[in-house]
Amino acid sequence: MRPGTSHISHVTSPDLLDWVRPEIRRLSAYHVPDASGLVKLDAMENPYHWPEDMLDAWLAELRQVALNRYPDPAARELQAALRQAMHIPDDAALLLGNGSDELIQLLALALRHPEPGRDAVLLAPEPGFVMYRMIAEFVDMQYQGVALGPDFDLDADAMLAAIEAHQPALVFVAQPNNPTGNVYSEAALRKVVKAAPGWVVIDEAYAPFTDRDCLPWLNEYPNLLVMRTVSKMGLAGLRLGLLAGPPAMIAEVDKLRLPYNINVLTQASARFALEHAEIFDAQAAHIRDDRAGLSEALSAIDGLQVFPSEANFILFRTPAGRARELHQGLIEQGVLIKCLDGSHSRLTDCLRVTVGTGNENKKFINALNTLM
Ligand SMILES: *Cc1c(COP(=O)(O)O)cnc(C)c1O
Repeated sequence: MRPGTSHISHVTSPDLLDWVRPEIRRLSAYHVPDASGLVKLDAMENPYHWPEDMLDAWLAELRQVALNRYPDPAARELQAALRQAMHIPDDAALLLGNGSDELIQLLALALRHPEPGRDAVLLAPEPGFVMYRMIAEFVDMQYQGVALGPDFDLDADAMLAAIEAHQPALVFVAQPNNPTGNVYSEAALRKVVKAAPGWVVIDEAYAPFTDRDCLPWLNEYPNLLVMRTVSKMGLAGLRLGLLAGPPAMIAEVDKLRLPYNINVLTQASARFALEHAEIFDAQAAHIRDDRAGLSEALSAIDGLQVFPSEANFILFRTPAGRARELHQGLIEQGVLIKCLDGSHSRLTDCLRVTVGTGNENKKFINALNTLM
């Protein structure tokens, strides 16, 4: 066949699609908008790259990487670097994923309801991270959302009642929460971990931007796991997440991991990056400062309600019925943020902006001011 010619039929008979599981047919694919040419403030990426000398040192290390060999299946050196950089308790076991999204999937694949004939339930507060629901649907778990209370804090009574009623195999709580940006009252979160009969995962994807840290809780609650990622700290392109928890629980999930899930370039690059943790700490501190400035600038615009954030993004509510038009107007002015209107009843008229560089934030605020 000549290059560029194709004999694949573009007409697929419905019978062939009948082989696909119905819960997959019902899904719509996760949509990532095209950001070419736009100031990209939609995906919680760190806007900063590395100093030139650090880039040179990194490239020199990559020259040594054996692309012809399979990676270390346990990524031991990288695990050691992560333990040190993130202060993982010595007696916790670690499991690495191709992004923490992969870890959510492995957990969902591993768990069941202990009583025969009952569907395993994945429970999470809402509005929350969309991958919990999507992955529950992929693996045919029953997804149960529980509404957050006022100010998007955990509603401990509602969570406890739902936990009692549904006996979830898996509870996910992201703190700080995405897309709301807040942290929860500590007492409410402890009640949830304590009440859950199954496994609880506290997802600390935004750990670099808050002082909250539940890793020490691993010593207090035998059913708890803590998930982290290097994505939001500035390595989203590498795809690397980690799950810390009791060795016996981690060992079961590890059986599902494909042997070489962390590729050699990610292992080498993340290990190198973590040797320069001070660069990432400085960037995170800078982003935290700029978050305060951005929040103030948004609050100064008449008609916006700005929610408090301990993450690297800010949720805000526009005047009724204007979120989509403002989102589109921003794109026309060269700035892409995230429109959440219509994604959840509690997010009507809401937009979410990632904290960018000083210039990017200014460009966003100016564009929004013009549109308002
Ligand atoms: C971004 C995000 C993740 C995904 O992280 P990856 O490691 O990039 O897959 C997980 N949880 C929450 C709450 C997030 O916002």
